[in-house]
Amino acid sequence: MKNVIYGVVILICLLVAGYVIFSGGGDSSGVDNIPDDETIWVRCANKACNATYEMGKKQYYKEMEAKAKDNPGAMVLLLTCKECGQDKVTEAVKCEKCGEVFIKGASQTEFPDKCPKCKFSKVETRWKERTGR
Ligand SMILES: [Zn+2]
Ligand SMILES: [Zn+2]
Repeated sequence: MKNVIYGVVILICLLVAGYVIFSGGGDSSGVDNIPDDETIWVRCANKACNATYEMGKKQYYKEMEAKAKDNPGAMVLLLTCKECGQDKVTEAVKCEKCGEVFIKGASQTEFPDKCPKCKFSKVETRWKERTGR
């Protein structure tokens, strides 16, 4: 019986060692470096749905990777909405002033984090501070 336990322990050690070596090398994406508790806001672009929700940042990039694999050469990658099931979900920004959740960079002429509701933009504020305008 003891031998069996030793065998199992050795096997687990080998698996762990193998896993560490495997996951430690050749990881260029950096997805695994994202902390598990970091979250990201997303918004569904489906007009009939408009769902906004928070999801794990790591999960977001993992799903993006999967989508990229499924759609080689695609210009825009959208995740599947957990509400309506359509591939319409994209990265969003939650306005820290009014709480509006909007699609990042939706307006080509404005700062990507500019709130369409109250017009607050953290990037713009910082940029103004730096340039002194
Ligand atoms: Zn949706
Ligand atoms: Zn706002």
